[in-house]
Amino acid sequence: MIEHEVIIVGGGLAGLRAAVGLCEKYDVGLISKVYPLRSHSVAAQGGINASLGNHPEGRDDSWEKHMFDTVKGSDYLADQHAVEIMCKDAPRAIYELEHWGCPFSRFPDGSIAQRPFGGAGFPRTCYSADLTGHVLLHTLFERAISKRLKVYPEWYVFALVSDGITCHGVIAFDLLTGEIVPCAAKAVLFATGGYGRVYYYSTNALINTGSGIGIAYRAGVPLKDMEFVQFHPTGLVGTNILMTEACRGEGGYLINRLGERFMEKYAPIAMELAPRDIVSRSIQTEIEEGRGFDHPHGKYVLLDLRHLGEKKIMERLPGIRSICLDFLGIDPVYEPIPVMPCQHYSMGGIDTNEKCETALRNFFAAGECACVSVHGANRLGGNSLLETVVFGKIASESISEYLCGNEVKPDRGLLLEEKKRLEKKIERLMNGEGEKASKIQVELSKTMSEYVGIFRTEEQLKFALTKIMELKERYKNVKVSSRRRAFNYELTGALELEFMLDVAHTIALGAYLRKESRGAHFRRDWEKRDDKNWLKHTVFKFNEDGEPEVSYKDVIITRFEPVERVY
Ligand SMILES: Cc1cc2nc3c(=O)[nH]c(=O)nc-3n(C[C@H](O)[C@H](O)[C@H](O)COP(=O)(O)OP(=O)(O)OC[C@H]3O[C@@H](n4cnc5c(N)ncnc54)[C@H](O)[C@@H]3O)c2cc1C
Repeated sequence: MIEHEVIIVGGGLAGLRAAVGLCEKYDVGLISKVYPLRSHSVAAQGGINASLGNHPEGRDDSWEKHMFDTVKGSDYLADQHAVEIMCKDAPRAIYELEHWGCPFSRFPDGSIAQRPFGGAGFPRTCYSADLTGHVLLHTLFERAISKRLKVYPEWYVFALVSDGITCHGVIAFDLLTGEIVPCAAKAVLFATGGYGRVYYYSTNALINTGSGIGIAYRAGVPLKDMEFVQFHPTGLVGTNILMTEACRGEGGYLINRLGERFMEKYAPIAMELAPRDIVSRSIQTEIEEGRGFDHPHGKYVLLDLRHLGEKKIMERLPGIRSICLDFLGIDPVYEPIPVMPCQHYSMGGIDTNEKCETALRNFFAAGECACVSVHGANRLGGNSLLETVVFGKIASESISEYLCGNEVKPDRGLLLEEKKRLEKKIERLMNGEGEKASKIQVELSKTMSEYVGIFRTEEQLKFALTKIMELKERYKNVKVSSRRRAFNYELTGALELEFMLDVAHTIALGAYLRKESRGAHFRRDWEKRDDKNWLKHTVFKFNEDGEPEVSYKDVIITRFEPVERVY
């Protein structure tokens, strides 16, 4: 058994920012299933929002305007007091990162450079070329390590141990040895990222299974707004690698098979810089109405950067050019990029308040795995990186406050019981013949992409729910063929699949029940937003039969009354 005052699960931006805030005061252990620098935050490209007012066309920007854009972008589902906290704190968070050595791109006057992004009234996205996540993650990792953070890399967490009121730690699996390790803690923070891989077409890395969200849910912590899944408009065809929104922020066009800049029809003012839900639906409509191109891996439209010129592309979007050359052999300086929408971000997640607190009193969540909610029904580009650093810091403060006022004695007996349960589960998976987890995972993700996608209908969602129930049943007969404990990714995959099935179930169920269209959730049979009946958050609780129990709670509106969204 290991013991720390605080255990953080997740070494991405949210986990590391929380660690920086806690390390000097507490004994902190950080567990991550990959080495922290390989966390998915490293892949973030386009930038992070803050109303610095550095851009010549953004001098009048303010946190209030940032807040308004975020609330409007969320289709009025975001909790406005939380959005206010995030937008007010954004400039401070950026200067803090700058002072810690983050190499942001600069304007000629030396100030931090900013670029336009979708759904934003002002150019307020700070960036470092198209490698923003990479530089932020390195900055925070160096800072955390310099404060002697204890890291457990390549350790998977498979259970959160609680007595229903208090949490006592987690059960981890050391990939290198195959050993199961109970980890006792006075407070636990989950910063475990999103669930992209529940979908077949996703910009997310293979590690983004959403297991943290599923683990919390099975431990009795409610999830919120799971039906709101972001589909990014521009994934590279055949690979689903993200072509950052910065391509359009820098002036890129979207073109259909007839050579038209079709966004004119859907968002005549914002054009390509409308929010992601609108641009994704527009591309999908063009494709469905026959104005897309064919590819063995799916139909697509074109993202044209050629008019930006080689100098600008090399300076602002060098990573995008390399990806296009390496994966498709095309050079965006001379050729347009084939793109299609794919799953990108999880607006829903572990239900937290604005202090990152959950229903369990010493269990906290921050970053993409959490739903505060600052993104509501649709996240604006650049606001997720911001959420990780703002709420990562807030999580550290809440944990600190909690530990100052409460005496927690982790229950070792409970931890050992849970360890035994996991041992038994692994024995069952490794004994006898059965179905392979990977087969079920592919069927699950294809079902989600096809039936719980950009456009949804009751019939499709019913089909998806029936299929998920069938896959859950088949999961009971999953077996792992390799009997080795060390570095057995077949085993970790089989263990994670159970959580992916739960996550998918809540997404499909929430979408089936929500009879309206709002943000990224678009029902073809209920095309209008319905504030009278549906201006509310969906809450999912794991009930005694192992099924989701659904309830609803009010959205917090402080400054902006819901009105129709026009772009
Ligand atoms: C390609 C791409 C580009 C993006 N670009 C931008 C952008 O430009 N601007 C923006 O605002 N947002 C962007 N986003 C979104 C943003 O990058 C993410 O939402 C954010 O980085 C998530 O950070 P996080 O700390 O919450 O989680 P992550 O960085 O995903 O970290 C999760 C951590 O949890 C660990 N973990 C997970 N489960 C377990 C488990 N069971 N046991 C142990 N460890 C576990 C992982 O090892 C990892 O360390 C982008 C997303 C993608 C996919």
